[in-house]
Amino acid sequence: MTNQPDPRPGLLDIMAYRGGVADAPGFAAPVKLSSNENCFGAPESAKQAIAAESSKLERYPDGGAILLREALAKKYGLPVERIVCGCGSDELLQLLGRSYLRPGDEVLFSAHGFLTYKLIALQNEAVPVMVPEDDLRANVDRMLASVTKRTRLVFVANPNNPTGYMMPKDDLHKLHAGLPKDVLLVVDAAYAEYVDDPNYSCGMELARKFDNVMTTRTFSKVYGLAGLRIGWTFCPQRVADVLNRVRSPFNANRVAQAAAIAALADDDFVERSAAHVQKWRPWLADEIGKCGIRVYPSAGNFVLLGFDNDANKADAAEQFLMQNGLILRGMRGFGLPGYLRLTIGLDDENRAFAKALTEFMS
Ligand SMILES: *Cc1c(COP(=O)(O)O)cnc(C)c1O
Repeated sequence: MTNQPDPRPGLLDIMAYRGGVADAPGFAAPVKLSSNENCFGAPESAKQAIAAESSKLERYPDGGAILLREALAKKYGLPVERIVCGCGSDELLQLLGRSYLRPGDEVLFSAHGFLTYKLIALQNEAVPVMVPEDDLRANVDRMLASVTKRTRLVFVANPNNPTGYMMPKDDLHKLHAGLPKDVLLVVDAAYAEYVDDPNYSCGMELARKFDNVMTTRTFSKVYGLAGLRIGWTFCPQRVADVLNRVRSPFNANRVAQAAAIAALADDDFVERSAAHVQKWRPWLADEIGKCGIRVYPSAGNFVLLGFDNDANKADAAEQFLMQNGLILRGMRGFGLPGYLRLTIGLDDENRAFAKALTEFMS
């Protein structure tokens, strides 16, 4: 007995998630390259839909998000009843943890998988099992060798944040094939639209066929709507039935639903955004490499910079860039001191970054 209300065991051991820094002291409008947001902003189509929706704000949203789910079903050729929307895809991941984990269960993911997976395990008295990687690349054989009777959820961000690593389709299929049928494989495909590698899979073809695979998607990244909080999953019917029972009834708000429907139809915006990233990704990798900094191949709208495991140097670089109005993401909180993550920006921003980094390294 304690003399105060106590939360569930383990909760106070969790380091609360902190988003990317948004301010650079002395800069009214710093260049924020810290949260993998879309440098083009939100699409005009979505802004118009939001304006139109503002006359109906007193009305509750459709709790079933049926128009958005129908639009998604049509676009991807999916059964609408197996799509569930959420307050960002993060909410859906959180709900999976709450719904499927019992104390002592294991949540499996590769060592530098997305930070949220560890939090989800800890929030539910489960054990995060972080499988060692090969030079920041997930190793499927090692992941499968780490499966135990307690394994309940396996998370794969594809591409992964912050490493940028894309797990090839064959590996993903091998991973699924090696999992027991009662283990749920969650493919978190937040950056799917930025991938240009033909060996990519967001897990959808697996989710169509099997009862233990699902894919989560978001409007936060290529669709430029991170501030609205709207994501979705295509999942087995039984999982959808669970998510619909545990989610809050109006978890996808009215404005977000309307904006997402408009953005989903805006192929031009998505194509331009993806093309921009695909154009600048190799250029930035080249410039960073020329400075003598290790750059990891990325399939997303960001790249990871490695400073030879020299945490002080990475910190100094982060600070120097900040003094130039460029905000990157330090990776200490991700278990990667000695690394920085850069979100791909607009043309001038990318050039300014390359110039500042060159200056720092010379
Ligand atoms: C950004 C991101 C998400 C998406 O988060 P939302 O809640 O949809 O904004 C999910 N997974 C990864 C790996 C991400 O980087």
